[in-house]
Amino acid sequence: MNRARILEIYAAIGETTPMKTDCGALCGAACCRCDDDGRGGVALLPGEAELLAGIEWGRVERDEAMDAPMLVCDGPCEREKRPFLCRVFPLCPVRGREGDWTVRMDARARAVCPLCGSGLHGLDPEFVRGAVRAARLLAEAPEGEAFLTRWAAIEAEFRKPFLF
Ligand code: SF4
Ligand code: SF4
Repeated sequence: MNRARILEIYAAIGETTPMKTDCGALCGAACCRCDDDGRGGVALLPGEAELLAGIEWGRVERDEAMDAPMLVCDGPCEREKRPFLCRVFPLCPVRGREGDWTVRMDARARAVCPLCGSGLHGLDPEFVRGAVRAARLLAEAPEGEAFLTRWAAIEAEFRKPFLF
């Protein structure tokens, strides 16, 4: 996707964050810390790696599971450059019953994010609406929809053990 489309997707989320107040104060910004083994990264939308060229706070590697580039972040980042998946965390875009893209709490976030306990209703509704708008915009591009489909499928696998 080109830069203009990616910036449009970012704009759909705007300046909203999971809560009206700084939720990073609750957890020490846990979602921006590396795994215990120092690994981990954020999968990048098609075209997003190009927007990160030259950053000094991370590097782009390969996310094999997503078959996509991935940002390995040594943050703090330049906030206006943070990737899409950072902007929507702790949400995961998924297809709803009618087939439209919507969002739910990402099962992978449970290990780090204290907001997961209260579910979607505990989040700022403007943030949730912005994430849904962004996911639908992203899905208008075939490569964007393919990215969302892979991301949602991996999340669904992770969620399975919690369904029993
Ligand atoms: S882990 Fe959750 S509560 Fe903490 S900064 Fe990230 S989104 Fe906010
Ligand atoms: S890019 Fe920014 S928001 Fe994303 S993990 Fe790094 S520091 Fe956190």
